Amino acid sequence: MNTTAKQKIDKKIVIIGGGIAGLSAGIYGCRAGYEVEIYEKNPVAGGQCMGWNRKGCHIDNCIHWLTGTKKGSALYEVWETIGALDENTQFVGDDLFYTTVLNGQRMTLWKDLERTEAELLALSPEDTDEIKKFIQHVRYASECEVPAEKPMEAMSIKDYIRLGASMAYMPKVTKEYGSIDLQDLAARFKHPLLKVLFTDYMPKEYVASSFLVSYGTMVSGNGEIPSGGSLAMVNRIVERFRQMGGKLYLNSPVASVLIENGKAVGIELQDRRHIMADYVISATDTMEMFSHLIGKEYMSKKWQSCYSDSKTYPLFSGMQAAFVVDRDAYSERGTIFFDCSPIESGGSSTCRMSVKSYDYEPSFAPEGKTVIQVNIAQYDAEYLYWRSLSKEDYAKEKQRILHAIEERLYQQFPSLKGHMEVLDCWTPLTYERYCNAYHGAYMSFTMKKGVKSFRAKRTVKGMKNFYIASQWLMAPGGLPVAATAGKFAIWWIAKRDKRKL
Ligand SMILES: Cc1cc2nc3c(=O)[nH]c(=O)nc-3n(C[C@H](O)[C@H](O)[C@H](O)COP(=O)(O)OP(=O)(O)OC[C@H]3O[C@@H](n4cnc5c(N)ncnc54)[C@H](O)[C@@H]3O)c2cc1C
Repeated sequence: MNTTAKQKIDKKIVIIGGGIAGLSAGIYGCRAGYEVEIYEKNPVAGGQCMGWNRKGCHIDNCIHWLTGTKKGSALYEVWETIGALDENTQFVGDDLFYTTVLNGQRMTLWKDLERTEAELLALSPEDTDEIKKFIQHVRYASECEVPAEKPMEAMSIKDYIRLGASMAYMPKVTKEYGSIDLQDLAARFKHPLLKVLFTDYMPKEYVASSFLVSYGTMVSGNGEIPSGGSLAMVNRIVERFRQMGGKLYLNSPVASVLIENGKAVGIELQDRRHIMADYVISATDTMEMFSHLIGKEYMSKKWQSCYSDSKTYPLFSGMQAAFVVDRDAYSERGTIFFDCSPIESGGSSTCRMSVKSYDYEPSFAPEGKTVIQVNIAQYDAEYLYWRSLSKEDYAKEKQRILHAIEERLYQQFPSLKGHMEVLDCWTPLTYERYCNAYHGAYMSFTMKKGVKSFRAKRTVKGMKNFYIASQWLMAPGGLPVAATAGKFAIWWIAKRDKRKL
């Protein structure tokens, strides 16, 4: 992999935000020969691709799967270019997507699709036709690739033909599963366990095709977890950026973009310093960008209508808790979903919860121990509830839910009693505080049935020399969207300056 920059040119790019999108833009900017500086508000880079240490354990809080781990794809090349992956990268993780438990029965979606098919058929012969159709379409979805070579809006007919070939099976998936959501998919099955299986992993409003694409990604080996998890990957990317001459300023919150005569000319930091630049890239949450960095007058109707209509464009976050458990006391692998007595959380009630085991990565816990993590989905209503609480009530409510989670874990896994310790607990407000994430959302707008999938421009009307690089640019967001958004912002800048990436 060529990591050397093209011949330097006398132009400077300033990037606001050192998440995956900002770092990716930084590395592609250096590659194209620009002087690049990233300003990140936190003491560590990575943004939502995060991990932190507690009580001698590591809480890995992002990569459940990284799309693009299969060599040869355009997306793999992006990960390789930014230093996230290389030929020596080891992949860890389990041989399964997740397990659903209901009334004492369980079903696992394995990465081995034939095994899944056989087990689904054995469980519910009366669902044979739907099962076979589902499996066949996951197979189709597993052939699909994420476009990562150049921005879609810059593609020629020849590019589209090439992209069409790599997405040849996608129309079949979209035709069968693109106009139903996960609730509809679940309703196609007769067996109660299968009905729950399809609504456990993602919000049930998600269009069903996106679930098949996620599962297909895992089945094809294109969605693995790199060893060391999220933070280790971020550290490799930061190292690549610095090796290429980029400058990363941590603890450097940006207050606003400096705009003169309809042109971005730099940034003002919160400590009032001005940093002048030829181009400014906002790689923050887009609401943070509109509200504080450039002003809502730059928000197009499209952005306005999506942000103001949370029914059509829902967002989700999580109420999460991490524990360290004795390895011998917990025998589950991967993520498991199960019924629990109701937990009131964020003003609403849930009767299902999930636990993910990180036993695949021994370095996350001392010998003989494993980290497990619980995630209870939180939507706008729950975010608003958390927001409405005073500081004291917020802390009390967090503790109350944490205890409720502990109790439900002991009910489901009695062997954990006396073998489990709390590591940490966090809510949508944590994401808001840490990343300036709108309503605590850690993905972009949900892809709903009957709603045109959200995609926005990388530029802002009325402001020259300003680009957006963020997972928010394309639903449903995620790491691939963030990394390619960074690359594509530089693609346009380099094109303007007649430079190659
Ligand atoms: C629990 C969880 C699980 C996830 N699982 C997966 C997964 O399995 N696969 C996947 O693909 N994705 C997953 N994601 C989503 C993924 O983490 C995000 O899509 C991605 O990290 C977003 O990157 P970004 O650079 O667009 O935004 P961010 O990560 O939000 O980066 C923005 C950066 O800007 C900084 N910033 C904000 N405001 C300012 C300011 N004023 N000045 C300076 N800096 C500022 C922030 O601190 C942050 O570092 C998960 C996320 C979470 C939280």
